Amino acid sequence: MSALEDALELRKLAMEHQKFFRESIPLIASENIMSPLAMEMLTTDLGFRYAEGLPHHRYYQGNFYVDQIEDKVIDLSNRVFNVKQSDPRPVSGTNANMSVIYGLLKPGDKIATPDLSGGGHISAAKFGAVGLRGLNTVNYPYDPETMSVLPDEASKLIIKEKPKVCLFGQSVFLFPAPLREMADAFQEAGCTVWYDGAHVLGLIAGKQFQDPIREGAHVITGSTHKTLPGPQHGIILGNTEDDMWKSIQRGVFPGTLSNHHLNAMAALGVTLAETLEFGEDYAKQIIKNARAMASELSENGVHVLGESRGFTESHTFIMNVSKFGGGKLVAENLEKSGIVANKNLLPEDNNRNSQNPSGIRVGAQEITRIGFKESDARTVARSMAEVIKKGQSDRVRSEMKELKESFTQVKYCFGNLKPYEYIELYR
Ligand SMILES: *Cc1c(COP(=O)(O)O)cnc(C)c1O
Repeated sequence: MSALEDALELRKLAMEHQKFFRESIPLIASENIMSPLAMEMLTTDLGFRYAEGLPHHRYYQGNFYVDQIEDKVIDLSNRVFNVKQSDPRPVSGTNANMSVIYGLLKPGDKIATPDLSGGGHISAAKFGAVGLRGLNTVNYPYDPETMSVLPDEASKLIIKEKPKVCLFGQSVFLFPAPLREMADAFQEAGCTVWYDGAHVLGLIAGKQFQDPIREGAHVITGSTHKTLPGPQHGIILGNTEDDMWKSIQRGVFPGTLSNHHLNAMAALGVTLAETLEFGEDYAKQIIKNARAMASELSENGVHVLGESRGFTESHTFIMNVSKFGGGKLVAENLEKSGIVANKNLLPEDNNRNSQNPSGIRVGAQEITRIGFKESDARTVARSMAEVIKKGQSDRVRSEMKELKESFTQVKYCFGNLKPYEYIELYR
């Protein structure tokens, strides 16, 4: 292959990738698609520039407009989340987490975190960012059926262990974290409360999940591309004293990045503006769709966790498919049938066998973004139940493709343009 052919091959693969997603039902709980107006920001000149440091205190020239953009993104974020402080520089949720870890904790310090098999994220694991910073971890006790931290048992643990920081927030985040219930324990242990809202940031923005700052969190981190339908990027929100905020900001720069990604930051600003306008309606519909899918699957004989509490209060739910061949097989069969979801550890897996865990995780945020309502969500859920029980199906695949054809626009945003339209300009 010539170099030109290599380049064209990459372009072709990207287009085929787009076609695959255009024809499939996207249910990965950590993904979403952006509005055309936000997407436009990604291909501007902002993506080629440096702006180290804070607005109006930069190291390079050429940042006159960048400063105004960053000021505006911060202001929008403070308004959307009703907080005093926002830092839109982290380039991912993990980068935001590392900034807090570097800003607030030193090697040897203790942090309390959700267990991986209870839905915790790798950045809070021993082999992830927390462990690589040399922190000692203790895991909260949790209820395996709802994958939720148990407030009384967790309170006892932190009073005994006195961690410097208590981290909440999960990658399987079905129900709000018990911040209010544990407020006395935080006080007694004297710990800083850090809420990782990567998955649920859009639901918090739409006021439909919990309000961590009002419930006692000092700082929130998040990815901006999961339920918040923005660019691949991160953010930190705070309502803290200036000193703690300064330490966290030093954790961002120079702690864990030099330049931030200015095009993504601008795209995040557009997303936040759209969230101010449409975020509440969007978040409400996401949760309705997730609950509709979960109950349809349950009615069709699939074990969905958390039934006693209505399966979920977020965008996501999780199924146990161990009796149908396990998460690996089921996820592959779904993919071949035009439905994209991921295998996931369940409590019963005990952190073993992450290549073939017992669970399948599902998120309703992206289908909601393109206009799915409960009846459409139930249609998909019935097809999923069929594939889970009987294996892959070409018929389901063509039905899913046909269904998807009637959802060609991004909703809950300014303008009413087709998804992928921007990228198609380059064909
Ligand atoms: C997704 C996720 C993150 C960070 O993800 P990035 O891919 O780095 O944006 C952090 N914490 C939790 C709980 C997550 O689910």
